[in-house]
Amino acid sequence: LTAFLNGQFAPLDTLQVSVMDRGFLFGDGVYEVIPVYNRQPFRLEEHLQRLENSLAAIALVNPYSRGRWAELIHAIVAAQDFEDQSVYLQVTRGAAWPRNHALPAQVTPTVLIYADELAAPLPAMVEQGVTAISAGDIRWLRCNIKATALLANVLLRQMAVDAGVAETVLFRDGLLIEGSSSNIFVVSQGEILAPPPSHLMLTGITYDLILELAQQHALPYRVCEITEQQVRDADEVWLTSSSKEVLALVQLDDQLVGDGKPGPVFREMHRHYQQFKRDVMRN
Ligand code: PMP
Repeated sequence: LTAFLNGQFAPLDTLQVSVMDRGFLFGDGVYEVIPVYNRQPFRLEEHLQRLENSLAAIALVNPYSRGRWAELIHAIVAAQDFEDQSVYLQVTRGAAWPRNHALPAQVTPTVLIYADELAAPLPAMVEQGVTAISAGDIRWLRCNIKATALLANVLLRQMAVDAGVAETVLFRDGLLIEGSSSNIFVVSQGEILAPPPSHLMLTGITYDLILELAQQHALPYRVCEITEQQVRDADEVWLTSSSKEVLALVQLDDQLVGDGKPGPVFREMHRHYQQFKRDVMRN
């Protein structure tokens, strides 16, 4: 796998960074994951905009222009053997001595980009849906930053793995927030409900696309606070992310969602999503 580190292209397994890198010591960095279909990065501008927002939120100067980022990503994509890929990029604050929480005056950010083969959702996951557990949101109050410091998300996802389910759905103060690495939507009485973007959640690129598709196809939707009870009483619950696209959640904890099968609004949205992918790949 050809990767990019600090201005150099080289095989991923040969790349090394300093143990004094603040990404390693403090989780002081941000990242993006960009799906690539047919060698075309999907929603690249949106991902680069979110990267800019994350960098600004942690006072890290963007090392590259949008155009340079796009060039580097395209170069990485061109260097791989697969058509469908997942590009991972991260920027950490860089290596600084001595170790000190406060931001160093002089430091060069560490930039990593690599791509791997895209693990698309299996057809069975689309047709039968996936299951989840719920948990209280133990993360910090700046979840709108796509930070590499993911320890809480790691522990929350492991809870799902230990329970043999796909995702952990997070509630805070009785309200739906998101999943450990996904956004969550609800369908109630034919209406798609989406939790309002805030500093408590990461607004997914897929989240935005789902609302765009709802708008475009005149599916009723509303962005509003969603209570835990509304999730448990919902006709449908969906999970979205760049890698999972949109999947129906058919069981939450010990209770089936709706009739325990992916619902009609999900199936329509999934169809629109696939059509949207095909349309942009043709252009
Ligand atoms: N929330 C969290 C916490 C995530 O980690 C992710 C996936 N990176 C998402 C939401 C979904 O974001 P996207 O649609 O951009 O993949």
